[in-house]
Amino acid sequence: MKYLDEFSDPDLARRLLDQIHAVTTRPWAMMEVCGGQTHSIIRHGIDQLLPEGVEMIHGPGCPVCVTPLETIDRALAIARRPEVIFCSFGDMLRVPGSHDDLFTVKSEGGDVRVVYSPLDALQVARDNPDKQVVFFGIGFETTAPANAMTVHQARRQGIANFSLLVSHVLVPPAIAAIMESPTCRVQGFLAAGHVCSVMGTAEYPPLAERYGVPIVVTGFEPLDILEGIRRTIVQLEQGRHELENAYPRAVPAEGNPAAMAMLSDVFEVTDRTWRGIGTIPGSGWRLAPRYAEYDAELRFEVDDIRTDESPLCRSGEVLQGLIKPHECPAFGKECTPRNPLGATMVSSEGACAAYYAYRRLDLVAAGEVGS
Ligand code: SF4
Repeated sequence: MKYLDEFSDPDLARRLLDQIHAVTTRPWAMMEVCGGQTHSIIRHGIDQLLPEGVEMIHGPGCPVCVTPLETIDRALAIARRPEVIFCSFGDMLRVPGSHDDLFTVKSEGGDVRVVYSPLDALQVARDNPDKQVVFFGIGFETTAPANAMTVHQARRQGIANFSLLVSHVLVPPAIAAIMESPTCRVQGFLAAGHVCSVMGTAEYPPLAERYGVPIVVTGFEPLDILEGIRRTIVQLEQGRHELENAYPRAVPAEGNPAAMAMLSDVFEVTDRTWRGIGTIPGSGWRLAPRYAEYDAELRFEVDDIRTDESPLCRSGEVLQGLIKPHECPAFGKECTPRNPLGATMVSSEGACAAYYAYRRLDLVAAGEVGS
């Protein structure tokens, strides 16, 4: 299929791999920021084809995985209310809160609905004027414009029974936090192409300069990933640390000005807690005060939340690239996709789920995890 097959062409992949091997003279460690890139790397075995010593560190760019436990517990508390219809993308329904998940709430009679767009949730609000309709607005800069537009539409159309439970996170402050960690081993970044298609690339050159790391905006297909890796290694070998855009077919340098205007109208920057990692200053968006009436946290007063994370789960270390998923003792034993202990095993972009889907049999055969 055009546009997919052409970025998975095995002959071109082999050529890029040959170039990567030719240019590499020593070990390097680089981080792919986005969980979608992690899945592509593990699914296609790209990390296993790289020169010895070139390591892919899996980053925290899975929105489901980093949504804080407090926010999941708030979602559960709101969804249990009899007057509420709680709408969410499907991947949030199995994310474990302190004690249960949205599927449990649904099975107990809560009105929890899967939607494919926040605008679908707004339609549910129109159709059910006697109910409070809440949409779970999580994600990176990619999902935020649609959520912002939905709140904007709710106000314009006078739909008062709609609100947003917001937990948006931002990539550039996370890159800064990773680089400032004393345990950081990252020498270069594959930046998330879809994030840059919204926000542009202007935030990244100062990060590359401040931390002395190459940052290459990269797509998601195998050839995109290989080209991102190749360009990162070329910069590292030459002692350069610059921003490069290896995904120009989707990323204009200026991003999407209409989406950015909508974001700055509806949201404001705030400190945000990332699940398993902690609070990163200025790393999230919340509704701006002029849209406070659409803030589900204020509408339902769900502040009194006490969280209880599984003591077995080491997803914080996975998300910071400190361990690989199979190095967690619970991987494939207490924790599986059917019985996940942490969000990184639930999400389609989670690193633990990727290793379980594509590496578990190899790891079992190698004796690195139990069968
Ligand atoms: S394997 Fe499961 S328990 Fe271990 S870090 Fe991943 S999600 Fe957490």
